[in-house]
Amino acid sequence: MQQIYLDNAATTPVRPEVEEVMQPYFCEKYGNPSGIYKMASECRQALETVRKQIGETLKVSAEEIYFTSGGTESDNWAIKSTAQRLKEKGKHIITSKIEHHAVLNSCAYLETQGFEVTYLDVDEWGCVRFDALQRAIRKDTILISIMYANNEVGTIQPIGQIGKIAKENDIFFHTDAVQAYGQIPIDVKRENIHLLSASAHKFNGPKGVGFLYIDKRVPVMSYIHGGKQERNHRAGTENVAGIVGMGKAAEIAFAAQKEREKRVQQMRDYLMKKLCEEIPYCRINGSVARRLPGNCNVSFQFIEGNELLLLLDDKNICASAASACSTGDTAPSHVLTAMGIPEKLARGTLRLTIGYQNTQDEIDYTIKCIKEAVKKLRENAEDYRIYKENFSCNMI
Ligand SMILES: *Cc1c(COP(=O)(O)O)cnc(C)c1O
Repeated sequence: MQQIYLDNAATTPVRPEVEEVMQPYFCEKYGNPSGIYKMASECRQALETVRKQIGETLKVSAEEIYFTSGGTESDNWAIKSTAQRLKEKGKHIITSKIEHHAVLNSCAYLETQGFEVTYLDVDEWGCVRFDALQRAIRKDTILISIMYANNEVGTIQPIGQIGKIAKENDIFFHTDAVQAYGQIPIDVKRENIHLLSASAHKFNGPKGVGFLYIDKRVPVMSYIHGGKQERNHRAGTENVAGIVGMGKAAEIAFAAQKEREKRVQQMRDYLMKKLCEEIPYCRINGSVARRLPGNCNVSFQFIEGNELLLLLDDKNICASAASACSTGDTAPSHVLTAMGIPEKLARGTLRLTIGYQNTQDEIDYTIKCIKEAVKKLRENAEDYRIYKENFSCNMI
């Protein structure tokens, strides 16, 4: 039985076309891009081609794109160095309660360094409220960091409105777009985004490579000190093969974005509909209207998400309970908690994230397996038995 991979928000398979363009940079074109001979300058040229290409996907200039080791580094760089650079102006930062830990823990670190951070609440759909954002802004606010789309429940944030508020108040705006880049349209100019993080392995590129877009108006600070790479701001010999792979992955992601979005979303809508129809006591988490195309996040009452995952793994289905980062963690997800989902229900959560490679047959098989697994787990669940004995109608 083949593997059915429905964890595309955790990482994605590298496309064969991407692997192919990376290959020569390991054993043939292995020059250090900082060298002066032809093989080195060929590598340098390859990097600059990708920089230009990535810049074009966001309609910004190549000089505003900086290569990094991925989403986590981009978030750390954006938040910590902007804070460091602007600390004379103020020491207040605004973010949300549903950010990725790369953002949350960067902010927590800054709190130990004398910065103050406001963590905005979200509504029941996982959307940041802009009235709360308006109220949180102070004279000493130097940065707003709100993710483009959430990795657990898929909610797409009202980025245009947030950017507008940031602009009106003359505050820099960073967005973690790791889940959004290549999946849905992004318009950094219209949405007033000053800094944007992305990661190649979330759009069918290799792991360990990503980029940070830094608007020319933002005073950039060196992040990793050493050589002169990335215009003196991020030292270290570049991951040439990885960057070349990221360029190809971005090219493919943007070329077929609309068609892929439509196809993936159709499978996702079908999946959500069937799960709700065929399994009682189940609820979809997150916004239905403002949602990443491939994301399905669903809670089943009376069961443990981790136990469901193990039964699905027996059927060769890869899925996730809340997010890959909370595996082994018994606390319910911080995202579901912020959305006000009761702990008991949050514990029975399953995240299925669809990618370009998934098929309708895989979705049908997965629905069948989930249905059987949930039934089996509930047969052994004490509170489910008690509930059934006391209530005859399906209330939820
Ligand atoms: C995956 C992810 C990250 C981390 O990216 P890495 O490249 O794995 O470090 C950050 N933010 C979000 C929203 C993500 O989904």
